[in-house]
Amino acid sequence: MTRRPGFPARLGPAPAARRFTSVDAPARAAAPTGVGLDSQAVRARMVQKLAAQGVTDARVLAAMNAVERHRFVDSALANQAYEDTSLPIGLGQTISKPNVVARMIELLLGAPGAAGGRLGRVLEVGTGCGYQAALLSHVASEVYSIERLRGLHERARENLRAFRLANVHLLFGDGMAGFAKGAPYAGIIAAAGGEAVPTQWTDQLAEGGRIVAPMVMPNGRQALVIVDRTAGRLSQATLEGVHFVPLKSGTA
Ligand code: SAH
Repeated sequence: MTRRPGFPARLGPAPAARRFTSVDAPARAAAPTGVGLDSQAVRARMVQKLAAQGVTDARVLAAMNAVERHRFVDSALANQAYEDTSLPIGLGQTISKPNVVARMIELLLGAPGAAGGRLGRVLEVGTGCGYQAALLSHVASEVYSIERLRGLHERARENLRAFRLANVHLLFGDGMAGFAKGAPYAGIIAAAGGEAVPTQWTDQLAEGGRIVAPMVMPNGRQALVIVDRTAGRLSQATLEGVHFVPLKSGTA
């Protein structure tokens, strides 16, 4: 029998598997045996691809291997969860492609003050479905993740409940102001692109810390930007082009 790598019925154990209902094979969706293992195999293939695409940090690859991405997307999209594609997560927002997520976390771990083990406290702006927050929980000591859309903040809370990640703190609010109570941060990572890096983010960045964020360039296109704080000074570098949802102020 030929295997379809992303087939929904093969992803994840119950109860998530029960949500992958009868798109085209209800009988197999109901079969309880081995489904967890198959989800692991599909994820391992995704990780192999990421490594082939140039993601080298073992901490990032281990996190991408551990976190079940299919649990963060709508059941109708679960069969695409391990493909290198961005996916809608509701309220007009999207979860980034795995290779962009991996790349950004790898950049974050390259902060000038990072010692090579776990990063310290990290702020994520744009919780979305909570997938990246779950990944960050594997590579950082504490994760503060803020979302401006109440519906997504609540969805992330629901998605993450089963993972029981004691070091993830979900916040509802406008992340353009950062989150002063958790500062200073060893890393700040944004999943939405603004016109500039808010000064609150640089104010809340620890010595040796790094901001990784999509930003709109003067030509109107987005690119990844990193901002490092070394010896009290900020330095900024612009990297490759990306496509993120816009960073917006206020809550909704
Ligand atoms: N990291 C997320 C990606 C979510 S998409 C994941 O793994 O699913 C980006 C998110 O940023 C959207 O949910 C959007 O609502 C949110 N966002 C945009 N501007 C924001 C702001 N100022 N503060 C907090 N969240 C913001």
